[in-house]
Amino acid sequence: MPTFKQLLHEYSLQCDQLDLPEQTALTYLVELTQQKRIDLYMKFDQEVPSDVLESFEIGMKRILNHEPMQHVLGYSWFYGYKFKVNSNVLIPRPETEELVSYILSRVDEMFPQQNISAVDIGTGSGAIAISVSNEEEHIKMYATDISEEAIEVAKQNAMDNEANVEFFVGDMLAPIIDLGIKVDVLISNPPYIPSHEALETSVIDYEPHVALFGGEDGLKFYRTIFENCQKILNEKAFMAFEMGWDQKTVMLNLVKEYLPNAEAEVLQDINGKDRMLFVYFR
Ligand code: SAM
Ligand code: GLN
Repeated sequence: MPTFKQLLHEYSLQCDQLDLPEQTALTYLVELTQQKRIDLYMKFDQEVPSDVLESFEIGMKRILNHEPMQHVLGYSWFYGYKFKVNSNVLIPRPETEELVSYILSRVDEMFPQQNISAVDIGTGSGAIAISVSNEEEHIKMYATDISEEAIEVAKQNAMDNEANVEFFVGDMLAPIIDLGIKVDVLISNPPYIPSHEALETSVIDYEPHVALFGGEDGLKFYRTIFENCQKILNEKAFMAFEMGWDQKTVMLNLVKEYLPNAEAEVLQDINGKDRMLFVYFR
């Protein structure tokens, strides 16, 4: 049997040759054996138990074949919560955690200590809706998705994380409009990739296309939301979106065109890319 050190050395080399992130093998071993990194480091010179070696090699084979590690594990971490993921939902991204964090601070500023309601359009795994709901007890949270399979995953995640979110299957805002629900906050990370853009194998071969592509220019879902948002928003409200790093100018123009009385703000992610759009009705 190899030691942990030998095993990681061998697989890190293989990852490197395929341009996978440097820590891929280490991260997978840590998650697989459910221990802290430091506890694994302490065992570096010990032999790897045969059952661990077997599952590690089976999983790494899939990962080296560009399958997302989160699919191999069956879960992903987001905002400190564990989310079940499969091929029916987008794997929640780190940039989206930043969106959640800004939403929570804007809620504090605009609606301090008030009971408010919010909707997450295109909730996927439920990552945004569940995190916001669990972090801010004053919010009544709704979430929608066109994909029944995604809503099933999201409901399971809400149960596992003891979150109180009401889910609906339907097209964009339609279920909320039909039920006459009004909200103070509208959140969406819609599919925003232009339909002809080339994507990495790990994304295009494994993640649902319905979660990725937003029409010819990537903007069709923002248009639909801007056109219809006033049917569900209270007078004082805000909207929070994730967007593509190169969509700032077109997004600001869209806001001017559809919502001339609103105030818009674009925020950057930690990589310095334009990534979030906030629209305020004060
Ligand atoms: N909110 C999740 C997140 O941030 O990780 C998932 C975001 S993913 C980029 C977009 C989601 O929108 C997918 O779950 C997809 O199924 C959903 N979607 C696509 N078209 C939709 C539509 N017409 N109405 C509602 N949801 C839609
Ligand atoms: N950020 C995702 C990606 O790069 C796309 C998410 C989206 O379209 N909203 O694959």
